[in-house]
Amino acid sequence: MGTHLLSMGQNGRSVEPWTPGAKNSHCDAPKHKQQSMILVDINSPGITVKRPLTIFGFDDASHGHAEIIFENVCVPAKNILLGKGRGFEIAQGRLGPGRLHHCMRLIGAVDRGMQMMVQRALQRKAFGKLIAQHGSFLSDVARCRIDLEKTRLLVLEAADRLGNKKARGTIAMAKVAAPNMALKVLDTAMQVHGGAGLSVDTVLAHLWATARTLRIADGPDEVHLGTIAKMEQDCERLIQIVSFWADTSRLFAHNLCPCPEQKKDD
Ligand SMILES: Cc1cc2nc3c(=O)[nH]c(=O)nc-3n(C[C@H](O)[C@H](O)[C@H](O)COP(=O)(O)OP(=O)(O)OC[C@H]3O[C@@H](n4cnc5c(N)ncnc54)[C@H](O)[C@@H]3O)c2cc1C
Repeated sequence: MGTHLLSMGQNGRSVEPWTPGAKNSHCDAPKHKQQSMILVDINSPGITVKRPLTIFGFDDASHGHAEIIFENVCVPAKNILLGKGRGFEIAQGRLGPGRLHHCMRLIGAVDRGMQMMVQRALQRKAFGKLIAQHGSFLSDVARCRIDLEKTRLLVLEAADRLGNKKARGTIAMAKVAAPNMALKVLDTAMQVHGGAGLSVDTVLAHLWATARTLRIADGPDEVHLGTIAKMEQDCERLIQIVSFWADTSRLFAHNLCPCPEQKKDD
């Protein structure tokens, strides 16, 4: 490694809307060692911050998402984090606790949405009675509470097991369950608020939009579902292998194994 290494945009332009990862296509290292993380000074020549990005029309700029163009940007080699090819390792280290942190915030956002939903239902009359007195509201709010508490327990379990490799499945489940539950409950809260729920007069639309990003940011749901499904299949394969060996050793124990030597004796 020289004193300088070329960052994104080598021999041309690279446009990174959500920086979903970039690698050199000539790299033949194992898949998990093909990425590096490099600190790039925003004032380096060749960097253009083209525009801040929005999420469902909400300004997402203040905490950092933007379209950035890198054109032949040179970065000192010492700016590489942890070492060459260790980007995936850094990302993995951050993604477990990072996304679980998102899950915890979602639980808080949903609690807030539920509180707002009940307050509104106790204030607003529709068709001669309070929304809270309509049967459909009662079952909706009860179901929302059940969904919220189920997910809270799952997230708690995942947080408790964090750092243990065996917790991968529980963490993946929490990552899928929390945003999907949040979308459902916040949608119900928006419905109870009527038109106001869809406007920016309440925080609900923004909470919903933020929850929606978490089905994609840090990896789409499908990737976590794939992890869960793979673990289920691995578990079933393990059971099959263990029962095969258990059956075989039982046959041996009873001298019933149809192995060639035994057939000769017969
Ligand atoms: C608000 C926001 C913030 C973000 N913040 C960050 C950040 O801080 N750091 C960072 O590195 N990235 C960040 N991202 C990028 C994010 O990680 C990527 O957008 C995400 O991984 C999906 O990649 P992609 O956009 O290239 O979609 P694609 O890879 O094109 O995926 C599109 C769709 O294809 C399907 N799909 C993809 N992979 C699979 C699979 N394995 N199995 C089945 N179906 C699949 C899914 O339906 C998926 O939604 C952020 C994105 C958003 C929207």
